[in-house]
Amino acid sequence: MTQEIGGFAALDLHPNVLAAVIATGYEEPSAIQIQAIPVILAGHDMIGQAQTGTGKTAAFALPILSRIDPAKRQPQALILAPTRELALQVATAFETYAKQMPGVNVIAVYGGAPMGPQLKAIRNGAQIVVATPGRLVDHLRRDEKVLSTIQHLVLDEADEMLKLGFMDDLEVIFKAMPESRQTVLFSATLPHSIRAIAEKHLRDPKHVKIETKTQTVTAIEQVHLMVHADQKHAAVLRLLEVEEFDALIGFVRTKQATLDLAAALEAKGYKAAALNGDIAQNQRERVIESLKDGRLDIVIATDVAARGLDVPRITHVMNVDMPYDPESYVHRIGRTGRAGRTGRALLLVTPRERRMLQVIERVTGQKVGEVKLPDAKQVLDARIKKLTNSLAPLVADAEASHGELLDRLTADIGCSPRALAAALLRKATNGQALTLTEVERDQPLVPGSSGGPRERSERTERPDREGSRERRAPVPLSEGKARCRTALGARDGIAAKNLLGAILNEGDLAREDIGRIQVRESFSLVELPEEGLDRLLGKLKDTRVGGKPLKLRRYRED
Ligand code: AMP
Repeated sequence: MTQEIGGFAALDLHPNVLAAVIATGYEEPSAIQIQAIPVILAGHDMIGQAQTGTGKTAAFALPILSRIDPAKRQPQALILAPTRELALQVATAFETYAKQMPGVNVIAVYGGAPMGPQLKAIRNGAQIVVATPGRLVDHLRRDEKVLSTIQHLVLDEADEMLKLGFMDDLEVIFKAMPESRQTVLFSATLPHSIRAIAEKHLRDPKHVKIETKTQTVTAIEQVHLMVHADQKHAAVLRLLEVEEFDALIGFVRTKQATLDLAAALEAKGYKAAALNGDIAQNQRERVIESLKDGRLDIVIATDVAARGLDVPRITHVMNVDMPYDPESYVHRIGRTGRAGRTGRALLLVTPRERRMLQVIERVTGQKVGEVKLPDAKQVLDARIKKLTNSLAPLVADAEASHGELLDRLTADIGCSPRALAAALLRKATNGQALTLTEVERDQPLVPGSSGGPRERSERTERPDREGSRERRAPVPLSEGKARCRTALGARDGIAAKNLLGAILNEGDLAREDIGRIQVRESFSLVELPEEGLDRLLGKLKDTRVGGKPLKLRRYRED
């Protein structure tokens, strides 16, 4: 369908970049993309106020890829990200969007990996360098010319970089690049420190921000669930077990995701179908008709495909992928609660999207309370309840119609009525797991789902500058966390950001998984997820920070 790619096609991206975007399955640019892409393409400096989940990565990656010269084998764009996790994510996004641009290479540069190969890849002419500031400064110390050909600089999640104490590193990096470069700064918030950087290092920047009007949503009960991105399918399947829905619409971001999730649901026996911009109009109408009359119960759709959808049977909206902006959230959940009925809206939030949840709450003026993933017992109870509900109406007149047959069968088989009833149940439930152990075996708990990662305002603490008092009042432990101790402290030249970086890198964790970090003179304390702690400590057993072994151990206050 050409009209659905019209949105991207109108943006003047390089044809090869456009082709890659279409191949990715995005149907239309998000609000931040519509606004930022033309500004960046035109070569302006820019301040973009946007958080994760708005599509901000593509908002800078697409125009930058459109502007680089693949024939020139030298670094042309530098993206700075606060953590290795984000750097890798951004690098992967660039690789996806550069798929149809032969000769374009992307290198991710972060701590915890050997420096030699990184420097070699930069020198070999990777055009796009995605880096964490600390490691990049290490490279600059070895080769001060390494950034001398950069023409585009992006500071991604600038507020997070400053929170992690990268201010000084940023200054070093700014100095190592040509002044004529284009600088783009993305930040969820614009505190004074960020404005000061913009003032000093950006030239006449354009401001891009998604304006959000307050929206009201009534008659819809809204809840959210914290989940890791790779566990979404498992989480959706679990939620569906306990949610009592009539019809449900689930929203995802790409065409492929509609197909994947709809197929996963069908495989579990749900009457589900995908709805996306590739589906022909008459087929689309058939899907909607089927949802209306009950031949389908679940439709997994993209925003574009679900536009204007009005099916009163829809009791539930599930935001499997976060919407790009609060407007589209309000629009999506408006698919339920039609015609004066009440509806329920579920929102799956990955740790990095927590901010977006806050924005949604602010814009709608409503709290979107947290629910936990149902445990095996709840799943079992829900299954039994469904079975009870389906059998109860049949019992009343069954004995009259089938009593005699039962007598004959029990006599012929030589079994009790209870044994026969049990056999019939097994057949009727199609081998579905209906004991707690079976459910537990069938559906392993989604790891990391209990409790969910907590956001904190102050995740790290500076070393104790006075350096004198090693003992002080114990700091209360964050929920779901265990406190661990390392013998490395401020006297070893360790700062909280070093510990954070090393543990994130080696432990393969999301930033939110790590709680408070307290650096003392001769030791440090770090909060880590209680769940799976032993495995994590095993993973970290050979980790070194500042050249010294980290040796984290569980720590008890007493
Ligand atoms: P970001 O806010 O950059 O972290 O992006 C969040 C997610 O949205 C990523 O998984 C992207 O692949 C996806 N995404 C970005 N732009 C679009 C778009 N126009 N259509 C669909 N998905 C998108």
